[in-house]
Amino acid sequence: MEGFINLAYIVASILFIFGIKMLGSAATARRGNLISSLGMLLAVVVTLLNRQVITSYTLIAGGLALGALIGFVAAKRVQMTGMPELVALFNGFGGLASLLVGWAEFTRAQNLQWAEASFPNPSFTAFVIVLAILIGGITFTGSLVAYLKLSGKVSGKPTNFPGQNAFNAVLFLALLGMGIFLAMSYDNGAALTLFYTIMGIALLLGVLGVIPIGGGDMPVVISFLNSCSGLAAAAAGFVILNNVLIVAGCLVGASGLILTVIMCKAMNRTLGNVFFSGFGGASTKGGSKVEGEMKAITIEDAYYVLEAAKSVVVVPGYGMAVAQAQHAVKELGEILEDNGAEIRYAIHPVAGRMPGHMNVLLAEADVPYEQLCEMDAVNPLMQTVDVAIVIGANDVVNPAAAEDESSAIYGMPIINVHEAKTVFALKRGQGAGFSGLVNALFFRPNCRMLYGDAKATVSSLVTQFDD
Ligand code: NDP
Repeated sequence: MEGFINLAYIVASILFIFGIKMLGSAATARRGNLISSLGMLLAVVVTLLNRQVITSYTLIAGGLALGALIGFVAAKRVQMTGMPELVALFNGFGGLASLLVGWAEFTRAQNLQWAEASFPNPSFTAFVIVLAILIGGITFTGSLVAYLKLSGKVSGKPTNFPGQNAFNAVLFLALLGMGIFLAMSYDNGAALTLFYTIMGIALLLGVLGVIPIGGGDMPVVISFLNSCSGLAAAAAGFVILNNVLIVAGCLVGASGLILTVIMCKAMNRTLGNVFFSGFGGASTKGGSKVEGEMKAITIEDAYYVLEAAKSVVVVPGYGMAVAQAQHAVKELGEILEDNGAEIRYAIHPVAGRMPGHMNVLLAEADVPYEQLCEMDAVNPLMQTVDVAIVIGANDVVNPAAAEDESSAIYGMPIINVHEAKTVFALKRGQGAGFSGLVNALFFRPNCRMLYGDAKATVSSLVTQFDD
């Protein structure tokens, strides 16, 4: 039986890896998701076949049904723009699950007085239990705070107090010290008290670590916590010696970390800067004062300019996701193409609220993959572009990032739409971007504002071409 279980675990791990690989392209992502889910189903079913793990199926069946129902309803109801919050909650519960595994195993070990028959390598078991509790605890409460901030249920502004970083560092070092001590003296009389102290501090540190971070940086934090939830699961896998949990945990840990690095690079920030700078708070540098005024254009006039355009670049941003304008955008793209224009969709790596956000939306609307352009490919062409249509994007096209050293986003790579001959910026009003900064682009002489909900505006442009 053990041989069969391990073989099934290897098959499940292979399915995870192939599934993740397929997530790399919009064309195969759905199938990749399905293949990874099948891997997880196989892993769960095979684990349940192990009679050493399960003696009664009733509770398990109830838990499975309840969990599946909650997951199904939550995933069905979530808006595309609410996806990062949902991921935050999932991460949090992943961390909590690992914490509970560690807690249950520690209590069992205490009850059995670390009997050699059940715990042949007690120091190692105690060490990985501490890891599962520590990382799982921080991930659980940290993710809950991230969820509350990102969903607007609490203020997204950083909460700071004097000496905060030093206080958190002391707490973290104390946690490490206590953890190492517990791993070495797991059978000490006060071990259980120490265990609960470690758990309490880990839960507290999750809250204290995330409150000083501005809401704008929350997607990065969520990705980092995602990585932590994987590491906590891997630690839990070592606690109960379950190979597939170790493999899956390591995959989540590594991919979450890669995603975090991609986001930081795309914003030209370091992870340390995201965690400790309080970006988005009162101290954030607002940049030089922007002179001039934002000039609006009517749909009719915009139509005449687009009608004559030979080269058009569409730059989607968070506002396109809010307006769900992707289908209308695709329709407009097709019309412009039929009209003889070359059309490209330029995607910034952090447009929207998670990497790949815009790719997913445009793929959903069946925008041809070959029309999607990465920032580095489109920027050198920008001066030859007749019209750049910015659809609900703001920070990712703010020229202050390239030109204004006093701006908080100085150094962040942007799509250089300001170099195009004409820019149409579609947004509802004069609202700032996610960073809270004024965008100098909208005041440029070559930029015209098309105010209104992005979907309504794009649909009106389509109607102009139809008439
Ligand atoms: P922004 O959040 O900067 O701006 C979105 C704009 O959309 C707003 O200015 C808003 O203006 C407009 N908008 C909102 N709703 C609508 C609507 N219904 N119709 C038309 N316009 C609308 O978006 P970007 O995509 O440019 O930038 C993403 C930001 O998120 C960056 O600051 C990035 O650093 C940050 N970020 C992204 C991550 C990622 O992985 N994608 C990760 C971490 C951070 P108005 O209110 O006037 O309509």
